[in-house]
Amino acid sequence: MKVEREKLEEVVRGIVEGRISLHKASEILGNENAAALARRLALERMLGVNLSSIGSTIIDFEELRGRNIENPIGAVQVPLGVAGPLLVKGDYADGEYYIPLATTEGALVASINRGCKAITLSGGARAKILRDGMTRAPLLWTPGIEEAVRLVEWVREHYEELKEAAESTTRHGKLVAIEPYHAGNMVWLRFTYTTGDAMGMNMATIATDKALQYLLQHYPGEVRVVALSGNLCTDKKPALINAIRGRGKTVVAEAIVKRRVVEEVLKTTPEAIDTVNKAKNLLGSARAGSVSYNAHYANIIAAIFIATGQDPAQVVESSMGYTWTEIRGGDLYISVTLPSLELGTVGGGTRLPTQREALSILGVAGGGTPPGANARKLAEIVASTVLAGELSLLAALAAGHLARAHEKLGRRRG
Ligand code: NAP
Repeated sequence: MKVEREKLEEVVRGIVEGRISLHKASEILGNENAAALARRLALERMLGVNLSSIGSTIIDFEELRGRNIENPIGAVQVPLGVAGPLLVKGDYADGEYYIPLATTEGALVASINRGCKAITLSGGARAKILRDGMTRAPLLWTPGIEEAVRLVEWVREHYEELKEAAESTTRHGKLVAIEPYHAGNMVWLRFTYTTGDAMGMNMATIATDKALQYLLQHYPGEVRVVALSGNLCTDKKPALINAIRGRGKTVVAEAIVKRRVVEEVLKTTPEAIDTVNKAKNLLGSARAGSVSYNAHYANIIAAIFIATGQDPAQVVESSMGYTWTEIRGGDLYISVTLPSLELGTVGGGTRLPTQREALSILGVAGGGTPPGANARKLAEIVASTVLAGELSLLAALAAGHLARAHEKLGRRRG
């Protein structure tokens, strides 16, 4: 970073005195790392705080400019633990994995680790992707129902042209469906794409924009685009459309956990876990009016998402799902179903150095061969880890150990 001290000081003073806006620092200094330092020093002076920990980072903000962050001042660090090994037998993941988990919740990694042990000792988790597709649903205005129906018919007839327009923007994005939804004169077109190893939200948005341009140029009737995203996508909000129609990867992971393992590792019985699951996850969630019937998918999803550079706001829909248990010949059958797991191994935050290393722990950093194989492998591992976390928490509740574990691992005094 070759920026003269006086020039840096001038920008810091300019920010403090309100003459230079935060984002102008990048332009004036011509280097994002210098600008990050100037913004941080200015904030320290203005607020009388010490931000040296935030400033201590290996991130090269020049690398991130135009991609990941605006007005950077440094980075926050989140502790990273590993759980495992976890034996996963998927269509893409096959073997024992150590799972990187970024969290500040004491007892979480230990609990997932215990679940991994029980599943691995019982022969592993079987994982399968049932559906794969990222969605973007623009909202279109028409004058009335007649035009709305004509528009949807036209979209059906011109699907190939819309597909060609959308796919002209990307090598990996492939349009697989356009589903129409109506409300009076308003029409949503829910576009679904396979997106290779990318989570695909930028890809789907840019491609859909291009398809809409084609539609606006060629549709003979009266139509207007109200919003490129009309909330039926649905991104970063809890919505049953994602649970029913899927978004990202729809994944199932299951295991049969042997009675001996339940008793020795989890300190309870298959019957007790089955009862807690049905009473808590099914009846309790129904009674609460929940849209998601599980114990704590969000804990596992958030920790893996933060560790591996996923978009953390998508924990909202990625952690929707259903846990099911049965007694099978005295053993415990347990499954988790995640209808909208949104993740990738390229793009977004996956390119940051620590996040990329975390992906490399799972053997999925970067693009897969063929494209999409890495993201699918990651999805199977994530679903299997959710299974481990769910099993362990249900067992702790069944055994009455939950408060004790948090007391011991999350509340050290002194
Ligand atoms: P992206 O980084 O915008 O796009 C992925 C890029 O990787 C594309 O340029 C793609 O090229 C390329 N690529 C190279 N190898 C690939 C492979 N094997 N598979 C797939 N792509 C490959 O990532 P994104 O997943 O589309 O979007 C993620 C970002 O969107 C995150 O930062 C997230 O926070 C943000 N986001 C955006 C919105 C929105 O509304 N725009 C909403 C939520 C989140 P090709 O396109 O040529 O294939």
